[in-house]
Amino acid sequence: MRLLIVEDNVELAELLAKGLQTAGFENDVLFTASDARAALTATRYAAVILDLGLPDGDGLSILREIRHRNDPIPVLVLTARGSVDDRVGGLRSGADDYLVKPFAFEELVARLQALLRRPGQLLGSSLHVANLVFDTESRQAFIDDKPHIFSAREVAVLEILMRCQGRVVSKRQVEDQLFGFAENIASNAIEVYIHRLRKQLADCGARVQIHTMRGVGYIMTENK
Ligand code: CA
Repeated sequence: MRLLIVEDNVELAELLAKGLQTAGFENDVLFTASDARAALTATRYAAVILDLGLPDGDGLSILREIRHRNDPIPVLVLTARGSVDDRVGGLRSGADDYLVKPFAFEELVARLQALLRRPGQLLGSSLHVANLVFDTESRQAFIDDKPHIFSAREVAVLEILMRCQGRVVSKRQVEDQLFGFAENIASNAIEVYIHRLRKQLADCGARVQIHTMRGVGYIMTENK
């Protein structure tokens, strides 16, 4: 699965590209409207992150063109224009979602995942860490190509750790992933799921490790 990032602020574009790749999204970065137009007609992307203020044109016109040719590709608009009129205009032009700069990177990832999870969208990708593979569409984990059964909650934890491979996932992120906004979560609930997942992964020979960073969160790494 490959994303297209269209953002003329080089620093921000590189930050996004790097972060998204770490989160499991391969991506291409383009800085101009004309390059974006060419790429979008030549390549099939899973989603586009589109800045509106581009040096050679307005992202909104690209967005209108995409929708004009009935291309259903999810588009997340990224912009400094935060007024209600701007947002409504963006959504009317066919944006699926809208993020106003500055934004938290975690929020961008969460929104992208939500877009890609919509029916008809291709999260037909798989996440890989060492010999562990997770198919995000069938929600099935494989170790050395053999399917392995995890509970739904273990799968949810596995997915977020794999998406953020090599990066710390806060306890809060795991909690949100598992329980949403449910209240009264037992204080050790997350540790319990992590512990179970860790044990199962070890038992079936997955060459990955889940480290606990005390007071910070968890991180999955390849076990070399
Ligand atoms: Ca810009």
